[in-house]
Amino acid sequence: MNITQSEQLFQRAKQLMPGGVNSPVRAFKSVGGTPVYMERGEGCYMHDVDGNRYIDFCCSWGPLILGHRPPQVMEKIQEALSKGTTFGTVNPYEVALAELLVTHHRCVERVRFVSSGTEAVMSAVRLARGFTQRDKIIKFEGCYHGHVDYLMVKAGSGLVTFGESSSAGVPEVFAAQTIVLPLNDLDALEQTMQRIGNEIAAILIEPIPANNGLLLQDKTFLQALRRLCTQYGSLLIFDEVISGFRVGFEGAAAHYNITPDLLTFGKIIGGGMPVGAFGGRADIMKLIAPEGAVYQAGTLSGNPVAMAAGWAQLQACLQEGFYEELHKKTAFFCDIINTHCRQKGYPAHLFHIDSIFWIAFTSADHIADAHSIDADKMVYFKRLYPLLLERGIYLGPSGYEVGFVSQAHSYDVLQTAAQVLCDCLDIVFSS
Ligand SMILES: *Cc1c(COP(=O)(O)O)cnc(C)c1O
Repeated sequence: MNITQSEQLFQRAKQLMPGGVNSPVRAFKSVGGTPVYMERGEGCYMHDVDGNRYIDFCCSWGPLILGHRPPQVMEKIQEALSKGTTFGTVNPYEVALAELLVTHHRCVERVRFVSSGTEAVMSAVRLARGFTQRDKIIKFEGCYHGHVDYLMVKAGSGLVTFGESSSAGVPEVFAAQTIVLPLNDLDALEQTMQRIGNEIAAILIEPIPANNGLLLQDKTFLQALRRLCTQYGSLLIFDEVISGFRVGFEGAAAHYNITPDLLTFGKIIGGGMPVGAFGGRADIMKLIAPEGAVYQAGTLSGNPVAMAAGWAQLQACLQEGFYEELHKKTAFFCDIINTHCRQKGYPAHLFHIDSIFWIAFTSADHIADAHSIDADKMVYFKRLYPLLLERGIYLGPSGYEVGFVSQAHSYDVLQTAAQVLCDCLDIVFSS
């Protein structure tokens, strides 16, 4: 495969931007090799600057649930774009998108738009702290909530540890406000809430954790979060930046039939443009400025072009049978590969829920917490990745990242891609 142009661009980029990138995983550090520079997308395909074509299972890390350049989204963007890119004022497109959300999402009574998932979570946590007048929050090991200081924390060695930052530049006192617990561990959760539940402003979780593998939780665990938050007066925040509008329109909240107090959104909600949002109970949301005392603002928040894109994409997601079809296609794809791995006795498995899948190198048929991921097995992913890339399959360049199937992936394409994956796994496990 010729990637000369990409190699030249990356050489230039490294002299200009830290690591040559604007977001770390894009640098291909964990899979090795040169990141390929994409030039154009079309349906389920991406084309790089050297003319290579890839079936795209990264889908921009989730936003592209309709694939690249879906006509209904592109038309709406053109319409908004032809009138201006930003006004810094209220605009009709933000009203339309808010109305769509409040109408079609049972947990969203009020919503505020921002420009990224990070901002959405940061603002939702501030709101929870303002509402409860408490400082501490609980998060779970292996859940990613963006790069806000006090959320960049992982657990230490104890069962219940006060936060220790996983980034330089985060003051200890910030991290100390975050308590990190293991996922799917009811005992640890109950003990912690018994001890300090009345100091906890919010429990924050990705209800379908999909940023560190795909760590599906027991429903009883998620239900316990709801019960304990209600009991101790803490707010339950579902970070649905990935799962929102992905695992059904109403995401994990509807999938598990649990009503969080606040929800955060990103990715799909922007139709490929930079949008985030947080929303939930009206009595809590009314604390946001200018109605209330919790400040939150943004120069480009509710940007008309981004709002138009989000509206058009979510409108498409609301079509009858949309999610059922995506679910069927993803199961079709994963089943081919899982059957192959089983027949050959490979310690590999594709876990999936709706249109999210994760290639796990394990013989287990369920993994629910970060500690159960065997880091040594990532060598398999590292071997697999370049083989797939050369054969025109694009995945997020890390074994901890999930993949996505979009509406634009046809059964034919999925059949082809599954076959390529099986062939590549044969190579990985024969060497
Ligand atoms: C992607 C993601 C974020 C951060 O969103 P950005 O738009 O990258 O800032 C937060 N939470 C979850 C669950 C995410 O998947």
